[in-house]
Amino acid sequence: MDLVVRVPALPRPGDTVLGDRLLRFPGGKGANQAVAAARLGAEVRMIGRVGSDAFGDELLRGLAEDRVNSEGVARDRHEPSGAALIVVEEGGLNTVTVAPGANRRVGEADVRRLATGLSAADIVVLQLEIPFDAVRSAVDAARRAGARVLLNAAPASPGVTLPEVDLLVVNEGEAAALSGLAGSASASAEAAAKALGRSARAVVVTLGAAGAVLWAGGSATRVAARRVDAIDTTAAGDAFVGALAYGLASSRPLPEAVELGVAAGAVAVTRLGARTSLPTLDEVLFS
Ligand code: ADP
Repeated sequence: MDLVVRVPALPRPGDTVLGDRLLRFPGGKGANQAVAAARLGAEVRMIGRVGSDAFGDELLRGLAEDRVNSEGVARDRHEPSGAALIVVEEGGLNTVTVAPGANRRVGEADVRRLATGLSAADIVVLQLEIPFDAVRSAVDAARRAGARVLLNAAPASPGVTLPEVDLLVVNEGEAAALSGLAGSASASAEAAAKALGRSARAVVVTLGAAGAVLWAGGSATRVAARRVDAIDTTAAGDAFVGALAYGLASSRPLPEAVELGVAAGAVAVTRLGARTSLPTLDEVLFS
């Protein structure tokens, strides 16, 4: 759950500042990406954990409103729902503090729920907002079922060894951190994508207004972004990943699925908010 307060100026340590009213938005990379794919028409099953609290009720309702099946989302009895405390200054500068709560307790029991009913036709989409061991064993479970794995390695923790996946998606900052090329002379997105290609059959590095780089089959291709007036880039990456997964699940070739991701990202940045900015298929195809 994203809890957002607008303030005239961000507080410094020790400060108390008076802000605007508290706003509440369902969030989380996994849930946003699930909704992004569902809004385009994918049949989506979400696996994860929320708390046995009011936020948990609200988060599950949010998934249901977008036809995401949340039978695989457990109600944790020990930890509260994950929350992000977001303070935004006029002009957009912000600070974000994440309290992972129930997300931190995603583990083997949840991976077993994932494995139930998994088929070779499925795509498993993972992010790094749950424990890394759970990610690793979810990848194993997907492989055993013959399903494809798309890992959005966000947020990135430098130094981790990523599991082998079919498709790795990262933004520019994450690519630099994970490839170890941050600040080096050869730190182009292509170089980072190539380095990350050691743990994935294909890699996409998203580049904001500059589009994306796809590394596959030993070569890199640039995909230009659509030209739009960006007003809020929140959830651009989630719109991209959801659309990419939808594209692959609907049997589009990888470059075409990346184009769909780029188009969805472009629509998302023209609208305020996270979930509210995620487009439908008509909006992606005809805008
Ligand atoms: P993240 O939100 O994870 O940092 P990006 O900022 O790279 O991800 O955005 C994901 C995708 O959304 C980009 O690859 C691009 O296609 C699209 N996008 C993001 N910002 C813009 C923009 N200003 N104009 C057009 N498309 C954008």
